[in-house]
Amino acid sequence: MTAPTAPPVFGRFFLPGPTDVHPEVLAAMQRPMIGHRSSAMERLLERLAPSLAQLFRTSRIVLVGTTSATGFMELAVRNGVRQRALSLVNGAFSERFAKLVRACGKECIRLDVPLGCAVEPDMLRDALRRTPVDAVDVLVLVDAVTSLAGSPVETDRWGLDFVFTGSQKALALPPGLALGVASERMLERARALPNRGLYFDLVSFTEATVKHQPTNTPAISLLYALETQLGRIEREGGVEARWRRHDAMRSRVEAWSEERGVPFLPRAERRSWTVSCLKVPEARGAKAIVGALKDAGWTIGAGYGSLKETTIRIGHMGDHTVGALEELLALLAGLVS
Ligand SMILES: *Cc1c(COP(=O)(O)O)cnc(C)c1O
Repeated sequence: MTAPTAPPVFGRFFLPGPTDVHPEVLAAMQRPMIGHRSSAMERLLERLAPSLAQLFRTSRIVLVGTTSATGFMELAVRNGVRQRALSLVNGAFSERFAKLVRACGKECIRLDVPLGCAVEPDMLRDALRRTPVDAVDVLVLVDAVTSLAGSPVETDRWGLDFVFTGSQKALALPPGLALGVASERMLERARALPNRGLYFDLVSFTEATVKHQPTNTPAISLLYALETQLGRIEREGGVEARWRRHDAMRSRVEAWSEERGVPFLPRAERRSWTVSCLKVPEARGAKAIVGALKDAGWTIGAGYGSLKETTIRIGHMGDHTVGALEELLALLAGLVS
């Protein structure tokens, strides 16, 4: 017989998605099933609606789909892009967004900036001027997968036409749900577009959601987890308190990076509140650092794509705390110096 291994400690899994899920949220998924056409399901979806609207800062209905976030990226394209999209590409997932536009048979015009850089407002203004998009009815489709619930996203105030996230990032749920909000303009656009498909048809999805009904059999256990997590977010002080905690984690990594001389990839004003990408000393190598932390019981991400060996990524998102981050940084200090 092998000795039982100790259960993993919560709060040491800093992958930039999926991130750590609190034991209380995991436990919620043990509740028994309910029928997806039952009144219990309608009541559950009805209970979720007001907290979800607060999370997205919207007065509109929040769609919850059983799919990874990429499913709602596809929904955005199928329902929001008539012929042509201007894709802002500065990393792996915006690259995916652009590819998805083409895969859905639409034309994609790209505005590329290097990894670690942001698309600045004047670049966008210029690109819109040069691009044959009809500026009068341009829709803004936003991938907020690593920002929503971790840094400010103001759906209504910013006039976003479609904004979506996935369950496994700053919401700190297991993967498997996508959540999103569509503006009235987006819904009108969808009604006029052919070939929206079925699973990601915004029109029927919205019709079902306003009646608090799922379109198909949803991931019921994840809905239980979502309800529990929305309660935890409320107890923390709402989404704004959550933003503040993420901002504090970001500042802590910034201060540490200055003290230790471990530079960030993006410049100061363009850093994520939920993921820190740091350049590691050449003599060390990202893989060795990630491996050594793993041996000590902690998980972070190596760099992505071409940055694999030269950078590390700390996903300080979801339910992580400055305290645990502090412990992680203390370990990391010994590995980078
Ligand atoms: C993780 C991530 C995605 C993709 O999410 P999936 O749930 O794996 O489909 C998309 N965009 C961004 C910004 C992400 O961080």
